[in-house]
Amino acid sequence: MTADPLVRIDQLCKRYGSLRVLDGVDLEVDAGEVVCIIGPSGSGKSTLLRCVNFLEKPDHGTIRVDGELIGVQERKGRLVDVPVADLARQRSSIGMVFQSFNLFGHMTVLENIVEAPIRVAGQPKADAEKRARELLAHVRLEGKEDAYPRQLSGGQQQRVAIARALAMRPKVMLFDEPTSALDPETVGEVLSVMKLLADEGLTMLIVTHEIEFARDVADRVVFVDGGKIIEQGPAAQVIDDPQEERTQRFLSRIGSAGDRETRPAV
Ligand code: ADP
Ligand code: MG
Repeated sequence: MTADPLVRIDQLCKRYGSLRVLDGVDLEVDAGEVVCIIGPSGSGKSTLLRCVNFLEKPDHGTIRVDGELIGVQERKGRLVDVPVADLARQRSSIGMVFQSFNLFGHMTVLENIVEAPIRVAGQPKADAEKRARELLAHVRLEGKEDAYPRQLSGGQQQRVAIARALAMRPKVMLFDEPTSALDPETVGEVLSVMKLLADEGLTMLIVTHEIEFARDVADRVVFVDGGKIIEQGPAAQVIDDPQEERTQRFLSRIGSAGDRETRPAV
């Protein structure tokens, strides 16, 4: 018997007006698994991540993290919203890193990282700061404690954002195109920190256009189009030998077919 998945998404649906953005998504992520989500712009990838931590409320379907329903609870056979305080606690178990780093500009790096542990988790300041310094070393930013976000490169800011999310000791980390807004020369440093976290066994759900990264790091690649999962499997299958015509078209458009030709046949 296998263990229950850490994240379980069942029949997730979301529409904006008449636009069906998520159309019955089922997805499970095991503890320690790294899942990369790829797909065209507008296919619902960000909405999917935002529903997982209830930044968007699904119209239908459920999210479970570590067996616990997120955002809703059962009352007399119906699902009703959880109280705000419960939602805050649930959200703190789900780390999120956005394309735009979303750091607090008026706070130093250290203040950004300790803010939620102190305010939301009620940690003593000294403990939170000790842990923040460890995390900064981990994302290779020791010495930057007192810098303000504007003094850092995009890649450095994104690594602070990762450290800030990790400070809450999340059960799972969601990344929404974490390198899309970066200068090309700083993309690699962010991806290498993410690879380090993956190697350490962090459970990660990553929306990315970095196909080489997905091939290298993902345990599973999920191709999404039109709010549905079209195809999923190991990277070697979905990226290098896609079965669905839509996946093939997407990958050839973003150029991975060219990459493939330069790789030795196995
Ligand atoms: P992706 O991340 O794959 O590019 P998104 O999840 O951001 O896709 O968006 C999917 C679709 O939903 C797009 O057509 C987008 O314009 C639309 N959409 C996203 N958020 C909203 C919103 N808050 N209101 C209306 N439409 C939205
Ligand atoms: Mg998006």
